[in-house]
Parts: sequence; C-alpha cells; structure tokens
Amino acid sequence: DASGHTKQLDFLPGQYARLHIPQTEDWRSYSFANRPNAQNQLQFLIRLLPDGVMSNYLRERCQVGQTIMMEAPLGSFYLREVERPLVFIAGGTGLSAFLGMLDNIADQPNPPPVHLYYGVNTEADLCEQQRLMAYGERIKDFSYHPIVTKASESWTGKSGFIHEHLNKEQLDERSFDMYLCGPPPMIEAVKSWLDTHAIDQCHVYSEKFLQSNTART
Ligand SMILES: Cc1cc2nc3c(=O)[nH]c(=O)nc-3n(C[C@H](O)[C@H](O)[C@H](O)COP(=O)(O)OP(=O)(O)OC[C@H]3O[C@@H](n4cnc5c(N)ncnc54)[C@H](O)[C@@H]3O)c2cc1C
Repeated sequence: DASGHTKQLDFLPGQYARLHIPQTEDWRSYSFANRPNAQNQLQFLIRLLPDGVMSNYLRERCQVGQTIMMEAPLGSFYLREVERPLVFIAGGTGLSAFLGMLDNIADQPNPPPVHLYYGVNTEADLCEQQRLMAYGERIKDFSYHPIVTKASESWTGKSGFIHEHLNKEQLDERSFDMYLCGPPPMIEAVKSWLDTHAIDQCHVYSEKFLQSNTART
C-alpha cells in the first residue's frame, strides 16, 4: 500500500487459495494450513500425485524465491459460531483446513470439545503429528484419531476407513457440529454413515477436494 507496508492477507482458516503454476496456464486450489499473520507466511499441505501439473512443478521445477500468483481468499468452509462439541473429519491433505481452526480454538480461554478423525492412505501420509499432539495439551477435551487405510504390519492404531471408526453411541448422545474436508468419496461415505444411523441432530459442513478436471478450478 501507499505506506510501503505489505497488507496482511486476511482469510478464515478453512478457506483456500488458487495458486498459479508457473510456466503453465493452470491454477490449482489449496486450503490454508495456518492463520493470517503479519509476515504473510502461508502454509499449504500439498500431496504429490505421480503425474499432475502442480505435482510435477513442485517435484521438478519449483525453486526457493520464485513468485507464484495467487487468488485468495476463496470458499465458505470455515468455523461457524461454536455452540456444540466439534467433530472434525479430515481425509488426507484435507487436514489443512482444520489446522488454523485448531490454532484459533486452542487460543480460547475455554475451548470447546474437539474430536478429530484424520484418515490417510499410509502412515507416511500423516502430516503435522507434533502440532496435532500439542493441541491435546491446550484443548482440554481433545481426542485425535488417526486412521490408516493401507496400514503396514507395524501400525498399531486404527485402520480402514474413517466411517468405520465413528462411534454411534458417542455421536448420538448429544448434538454436535461436524466439519468434513477432503476427497469426495470420503465425504460421501461419512454422510451416508450418518444417514444409515439416523443421526440427524448434527450440523454438517463440508469442503470437497475435487480434482481439477472435474472442479471449477
Ligand atoms: C477447494 C479445494 C481445496 C483443495 N485443497 C487441497 C489441499 O489443501 N492439498 C492438496 O494436496 N490438494 C488440495 N486440493 C486438490 C488440488 O486442487 C489438486 O486437484 C491436486 O493437488 C492435484 O493437482 P495436480 O496439478 O498435481 O494434478 P492434476 O494435473 O490436476 O492431475 C491429477 C491427475 O492425477 C490423477 N490422480 C488423482 N488421484 C490419484 C491417485 N491417488 N493416484 C494416481 N493418480 C491420481 C487424476 O486422475 C489426474 O489425472 C483442493 C481442491 C479443492 C477443490
């Protein structure tokens, strides 16, 4: 701006940015994994696919110091006023959307209960483990459930799909707000689990990480 200071980019955790991929005409969407800050440092969790425009750029051409054009903030997936316990369900890099929300919640004097389910393909896909553990120290009623679909033999935690580990009795007991973020099949599976178990006293908000060929990128 006119004072010579860079303006802080404001966004709500859960929102996303569209990033331009240098030397192409393509743009891809990524959820912010942190909160707005005076340094304008932005964090994203980006999964590298075997062959993809952004994935190949990051693997082969991306250099520290490069400028990447960005359009932001976008989307309407963000934490609403909290009146009930929160159930957060993240598939893969869908975790990004919840990290800034959890940072904000952990800063509150009386944080609400939060139950985070985080599903990934393999153990190696689990991100930000220390950060997730640390929320447990700051949010009194915080539970964290990592679930690995293709678990190795040494994995002693939960395996399979997220909806197989949701607890009907626990979720039935009292109303809650559920936030879902990640691949469309994961979101559909959890929604149909809610239907099947006739759990309807919850508010559900979701953000689908559609692939670029089907998304309005
Ligand atoms: C609102 C929104 C938020 C998003 N946030 C994130 C985020 O935070 N982090 C993130 O990583 N992604 C996020 N995505 C997805 C992201 O925008 C891209 O679609 C993704 O990163 C792939 O881009 P790419 O250019 O590397 O691949 P593309 O050039 O788009 O090509 C991907 C290709 O890989 C194929 N493919 C898909 N899955 C697999 C697989 N499992 N194995 C092999 N091939 C496969 C596809 O069929 C396609 O041909 C988000 C999407 C939306 C809509």
